[in-house]
Amino acid sequence: MSIQKSILWFRQDLRLHDNAALCAAVRHGAVLPLFILEDEDVTAALGGAGRWWLHHSLAALKRSLGDLHIAQGEPAAIIADLAEKTGATAIFWNRRYEPDAIARDTETKAALSEVGLATKSFSGALLTEPWAVKNRSGQPFKVYSPFWRALQAREIAAINPKPETISLVSASGGLSLSDIDLLPTKPNWTAGWETIWSPGEDGARERLAQFLDSGIEGYATLRDRPDLENVSHLSPHLHFGEVSPATVWWAAMDAAARNPSLEKDGSKFRAELAWREFSHHLLYHFPKLPTENWKPAFDAYPWVQDETQLTAWQKGKTGYPLVDAGMRELWQTGYMHNRVRMVVASFLIKHLRHHWKHGERWFRDTLVDADLANNSASWQWVAGSGADAAPYFRIFNPTTQGEKFDPDGAYVRKWCPELARLPDQFIYKPHTAPPEILNAAGVRLGVDYPLPIVDHAKARQAALDGLQQTKHDFVQ
Ligand code: FAD
Repeated sequence: MSIQKSILWFRQDLRLHDNAALCAAVRHGAVLPLFILEDEDVTAALGGAGRWWLHHSLAALKRSLGDLHIAQGEPAAIIADLAEKTGATAIFWNRRYEPDAIARDTETKAALSEVGLATKSFSGALLTEPWAVKNRSGQPFKVYSPFWRALQAREIAAINPKPETISLVSASGGLSLSDIDLLPTKPNWTAGWETIWSPGEDGARERLAQFLDSGIEGYATLRDRPDLENVSHLSPHLHFGEVSPATVWWAAMDAAARNPSLEKDGSKFRAELAWREFSHHLLYHFPKLPTENWKPAFDAYPWVQDETQLTAWQKGKTGYPLVDAGMRELWQTGYMHNRVRMVVASFLIKHLRHHWKHGERWFRDTLVDADLANNSASWQWVAGSGADAAPYFRIFNPTTQGEKFDPDGAYVRKWCPELARLPDQFIYKPHTAPPEILNAAGVRLGVDYPLPIVDHAKARQAALDGLQQTKHDFVQ
């Protein structure tokens, strides 16, 4: 009797544990593991830093599986061809939720059914399907808190064990990782990232274990401190599906069950995972989230376009140490702490009055965790144009935010070493330091470190004036 064969189409689920599609494929018989680099419609959210991550994550997946067939192009044609070559009769995958990916999946399913191939898709990227959580009127949630309550009332799925053995099928004509050319070259700003990150499932599981061991204690209050190690850094691993959100959820539950003093921290951590769910929920129900203001009133805001200021922001040369430290952390590591993301985003949108789309685009290219749902929902949240967003008039003061959340200036000293010798009192306002203090610290303002590119009070007022000019109801 000949063994049944199937194709497992890996997407943003680059893992063997808790992978429903993989389990189904293994139950069906022998498996051809496949990854397809799709065209730009579907991979638009994949920027340079994400491509670096994907390269290493695919290499890790290939090592764990023993083989991975890599292809590039349009999935239906590639899969149909591979099915013919191998005799596979069924195709399994875990779903994605970006609008272009959904459209592509629908087309792919239809095209494969037409040639007689059975397809089955599974849930693997979210705790719950975006269509499954509704408010009392049967509508999607637009506000986070009731969404979070509704999510907690649902049963989170148990974890699928990793298959003990996978019988592999191979096919000719696969590409190598270098053929798909994911690593950035011009410029290659990723040097040294291998020492910071471990893309792949093993790295993800190690990161989770480490966080639960030593980072989660105090998370509820210390997660806002960029100078400390109290966040998980799981975001890129979650984005590429190297660990499932259910695995993270249950691991946090278990940690709190074993050590009840972690109850509050564990619950806060799960509430943050729920922000990820909420962003995907918003994107699923409002697919224009990445391109259009959720609140159309913002279309009338008098945005400024100034390349010099945008470049100063991107390079971390605004003269505001917290903003500059964050932007340099991003460039040097592909990551930025959440509190600092909020401050740099607010600075771009409000102090500089640049449209959030400019920031969203820069983050999309430079974050290793760049994610269409989280990134666009978060930028719109900071702008005030999004669902359940911070009101536009809440303008972060980058100086006091620094003093509050990095009280010893350790974060700034790390990323802006030219300021390292300034006393704490001036670390967040070097332009107010007397000349003798600057001299003693070896800082020449305007030479070693920029003067502020805008005056905080004036910029704040200009942002609020912009709001008034449009004469509508942002502030409600
Ligand atoms: P932890 O605090 O350890 O949180 C655990 C997980 O919960 C994260 O890995 C993430 O998956 C999820 N999470 C936490 N906070 C949020 C949040 N506010 N919104 C959505 N999910 C959250 N996150 C991305 O994953 N990709 C992005 O492209 C992205 N862009 C952002 C842009 C802006 C302007 C802002 C303000 C936030 C953005 N975030 C984004 C959300 C958040 O900053 C990151 O998820 C978080 O900093 C990742 O670090 P961590 O894994 O250590 O987080």
